[in-house]
Amino acid sequence: MKIKKITEVLIGSNNKGKVREIKALLPKKVKIFTTRSFNLSSPKETGKTFLQNSLIKARYFSKKSKKICIADDSGLEIDLLDKAPGIYSARWGGKKNNFNLAIKKVYRKLNQKNKFWKKKKIKARFICAITIYGKNFKTFQSTGKVEGKISNFKKGKNGFGYDPIFIPNGKKITFGQMKPSLKFKIDHRSKAFKKIRKFF
Ligand code: IMP
Repeated sequence: MKIKKITEVLIGSNNKGKVREIKALLPKKVKIFTTRSFNLSSPKETGKTFLQNSLIKARYFSKKSKKICIADDSGLEIDLLDKAPGIYSARWGGKKNNFNLAIKKVYRKLNQKNKFWKKKKIKARFICAITIYGKNFKTFQSTGKVEGKISNFKKGKNGFGYDPIFIPNGKKITFGQMKPSLKFKIDHRSKAFKKIRKFF
């Protein structure tokens, strides 16, 4: 069956870093709307998984704007912290989504768990779940992940969120030290996006 192509889409996020990265992953010919164009604040993320939360966001923003919406829910899982912050990744940054605060919390929790954690490989992964939702569009979901470890120190100024403390497997530098073009080649979001390319 021929897939009906999406020609315009609302990016369902109020996180500037994320909107920038999603924009870069969508083909240039697609007309993009943002939550700002409709003055929409974000819904409560009451789901228990990344997939559930991405559906909550995509459905909410689509119903409010009457547009097809693409929303992702993403986050960092750290094995030593029993997969925290996970779906609470944004919330660890407090009300203002302060990434420095969130990173400090990660280091504080790691120190509490094991004060020699810097001598170990602290396995972690970024996960991204995407939902496309719209009237006359069959809801589609995909996920992507990238495995890596936590850096002993915060390094680099690129990207957003936990990028300065995440070193992907096979690399010696954090996402924060990487050029965005390199991060996009290997990260969780681009892997999830590869699976939805056919719709654009
Ligand atoms: P949410 O999906 O909007 O609930 O927030 C996801 C949170 O996970 C972000 O605010 C970041 O803290 C973190 N996160 C997700 N993807 C990335 C990434 O590519 N780099 C760094 N942090 C990320």
